[in-house]
Amino acid sequence: MSSVTISSLSLTYPDGTVGLEGIDLAIANGEFIALVGPSGSGKTTLLRSIAGFLAPTSGSITIGDTVVADAKTLVAPEKRGLGMVFQQHAIWPHWDVARNVGYPLKLAGVSRTDRAKRVAEVLETVGLAGYEKRNPSTLSGGQRQRVALARAIVGRPSVLLLDEALSALDEPLRDALRLELQTLTRSIGLTVVHVTHDRDEALALADRVVVLDAGRILQIGAPPELVTRPASAAVARFLSDATLFPGELSTAGFTATDHPCSVDAAAIETSTGPAVSAGTLAVLPEDVQLRPAQESAGSAVVTSSLFGRSGNDVVVDWRGVAVRCRVASYRPLVGENVAISIGRALFFADESELGDVGAPHGSSTTRVF
Ligand code: ADP
Ligand code: MG
Repeated sequence: MSSVTISSLSLTYPDGTVGLEGIDLAIANGEFIALVGPSGSGKTTLLRSIAGFLAPTSGSITIGDTVVADAKTLVAPEKRGLGMVFQQHAIWPHWDVARNVGYPLKLAGVSRTDRAKRVAEVLETVGLAGYEKRNPSTLSGGQRQRVALARAIVGRPSVLLLDEALSALDEPLRDALRLELQTLTRSIGLTVVHVTHDRDEALALADRVVVLDAGRILQIGAPPELVTRPASAAVARFLSDATLFPGELSTAGFTATDHPCSVDAAAIETSTGPAVSAGTLAVLPEDVQLRPAQESAGSAVVTSSLFGRSGNDVVVDWRGVAVRCRVASYRPLVGENVAISIGRALFFADESELGDVGAPHGSSTTRVF
């Protein structure tokens, strides 16, 4: 296992597309990092840069004590001491399990007997003890993914890189493999970088989550911090389904632009103080209260109402804004009129107000707590 240090990393593809811009990330020895972000945000580009399949345009990557990429250096993928698993498990279909798993050891010149011993050990670790002679075509999707995982860890990599490694699996199996992945990587103290578009998976597994958007890091933090203290309205929306209202904050409270939403100052968390400022109010689903209302009195109409174990997931149309709500007290019906109120909200002042031009997100805001 090793630490990974990424400094000022930028990558522009030959066609001019910006993949990454100014990435700084220090991953500790043995840490489990998840990279999340919308499609196209740069997750795969960052992982492939660490792996060595992509050369940075500028900046550097250090694994352990070794600089593997900078302006003068580009260490080949196979020399970086990494294990990798991708969504499409690239295992050889006509090789048996033992040959697939033992291949990296063969490349490294490990003897046949030592290989067999090590393959048996690692198959036991991933729950496939005794599967050596099986042909991949006789395995389930989850078992094949475990073979890929076994091959990735058989050479005792310093860092394990996973790109949507569980995403192609069906739900019950994905759930089980998530648990196994945690048990396995924590028990051997492996440094892991796990790319997923599934934010719940990222929050569930990682020590720290890195939120990417448009090739930049929006926030790095432990899961509870990201959920309760998002650094921007964009993070609150992406990770927690916050509804965003542009508007203005004054000493009295928040008033939305062209919308009836207004919230008392006492219910707003911000660090911009009482100064009047333009910005975005982020309202988390659990901070919205709904009450049944008479046909005419209700200010919002329910557009969907899904049962949820920790509260029903309800969306209401509030004068043209789709507001996500978590309602534990009752389950409103689609089409029902409801009265809406906001118990707590987070306010983010516009970056432009603070003189910071060139923000990653035009409408996004700065950390204000
Ligand atoms: P993610 O994995 O988060 O979905 P990617 O890292 O694959 O995102 O892509 C980041 C950005 O780089 C996107 O805009 C994508 O279209 C672009 N991109 C990815 N690969 C290439 C490529 N080979 N050539 C040009 N642009 C690319
Ligand atoms: Mg990707």
